[in-house]
Amino acid sequence: MSGDYKKNIAVVGGGPGGYAAAFYAADLGMTSTLIDMEANPGGVCLYRGCIPSKALLHVASVMAEAQHAAQFGIEFAKPKIDLAKLRGFKENVVKKNTGGTGQLCKQKGVKYIQGTAEILDGRTLKVAKTAGGEEKLTFDAIILATGSKPTKIPSLALDSPRVWDSSSALDLPSIPKSLLVIGGGYIGLELGTVYNAIGSRVTVVEMMPGLLPGADRDLVNVLAKRLEKEFEAILLNTKVAEMKESKDGIRVKFDGDVKEKEKTFDAVLVSVGRTPNSKIPGLDKTKVKVNAKGFIEVDGQRRTAEPTIFAIGDVAGEPMLAHKASHEARVAVEAIGGHKAVFEPRAIPAVVFTDPEIAWSGLTETQAKEQGREIKVARFPWGASGRATAIDRNDGATKLIMDPASERVLGVGIVGYGAGELIAEATLAIEMDCVASDLKLTIHPHPTLSETVMEAAEVYFGQSTHIATAKRK
Ligand code: FAD
Repeated sequence: MSGDYKKNIAVVGGGPGGYAAAFYAADLGMTSTLIDMEANPGGVCLYRGCIPSKALLHVASVMAEAQHAAQFGIEFAKPKIDLAKLRGFKENVVKKNTGGTGQLCKQKGVKYIQGTAEILDGRTLKVAKTAGGEEKLTFDAIILATGSKPTKIPSLALDSPRVWDSSSALDLPSIPKSLLVIGGGYIGLELGTVYNAIGSRVTVVEMMPGLLPGADRDLVNVLAKRLEKEFEAILLNTKVAEMKESKDGIRVKFDGDVKEKEKTFDAVLVSVGRTPNSKIPGLDKTKVKVNAKGFIEVDGQRRTAEPTIFAIGDVAGEPMLAHKASHEARVAVEAIGGHKAVFEPRAIPAVVFTDPEIAWSGLTETQAKEQGREIKVARFPWGASGRATAIDRNDGATKLIMDPASERVLGVGIVGYGAGELIAEATLAIEMDCVASDLKLTIHPHPTLSETVMEAAEVYFGQSTHIATAKRK
């Protein structure tokens, strides 16, 4: 790779965007400085996002499987939950991960400064160090990776220990008898799954007509069917009009398709989206532009309107996902080195780590419809998968979204146990411009859920071994 990798760069924000950028810069031979308020790099993802939520979802999944084992004649006693120990497990997972990134900083020769950065100009930062004191530093380029925070809605802002955001919910302050989750997006559903497993009666309220707005309905319906059984209630087309603290909990008034217009909950989790952290001190002294949604505007190389400042991750636009941030990080670093890198993925996978999981990559059916694009969908129901039957998880489906003219795989959607692991193959297929025959002719190991990807391609040709499909003309 050609380029000038002798540059001196700074990265503001130590999340999966920021630390990936700082580490890659060091690997390429640049002088790399990483600044974050925490003791170690990790950002939201490692401290209060992806990683702690997945640790708790793992616990929820173990509990669900143990309970489900009764179907096979294996009964376990009712679980006893030691909340302090569970919290300790989650904190250890966070510590291991963030301790690891801290170690990597040292091993890779990245200078890590714990503190808050302020921008003085396109090349200069002032860092207020957590330990005390300030440092003024000048660089060839600066990457902003300041991430995002939970969105606050003034009408739902109630200063009470019973009203949580995702960060406080992950702290496991208590197991409320009843929990209202405001927002049926992935964060609300994942945390609702955790609290349901440990004993809360969970109600989800969503103002849109369905959960996970934007995701394909056929995938969401499989999850919704299960959550309807697991959760106390799912209130769709409904808004929270008011919240008040009473001595028994939080009194909530609903506005919408709901019989009971008022109800009291022990705790309320507000998860209505995330807001980019673009109010970076001193940003207004630069040419950097912020759009109406609060995202920093960037070009294909993640360069802002200030030529020496780049922005990546949640602060630089949707989708707000860790792997998108890390990928942009590498593009920005290469661009700083003068390489003609550009961020142009064909597919960015998205995973909802509920039970069952939902995962998709590339074009969705919903997007194809919005774009008026002609597609052909090949769907393989997991009822016909030997592996899904063996683990008693036939509640799943794998579908390919195909271009009927070229037979190229444009998108893949999966709902079912472990869908998040299966979507990687699909993403590679889209990136590699695979056609249906590539998936059909690739030998997949038996018996695995990965075969459902191959069999969906067989469905496309009307030749699936395990289901009777109409012959393709
Ligand atoms: P962040 O991770 O937000 O990190 C930004 C860092 O910058 C923070 O540490 C912040 O303190 C620091 N910072 C901000 N301003 C300054 C400043 N002026 N000076 C110094 N430091 C500063 N994504 C997935 O892909 N998969 C998941 O399963 C997933 N699960 C999630 C679950 C939850 C509960 C939440 C909340 C999020 C989840 N996400 C998930 C989203 C994911 O966490 C974000 O997309 C990701 O963390 C974004 O990375 P980032 O590098 O842009 O910034």
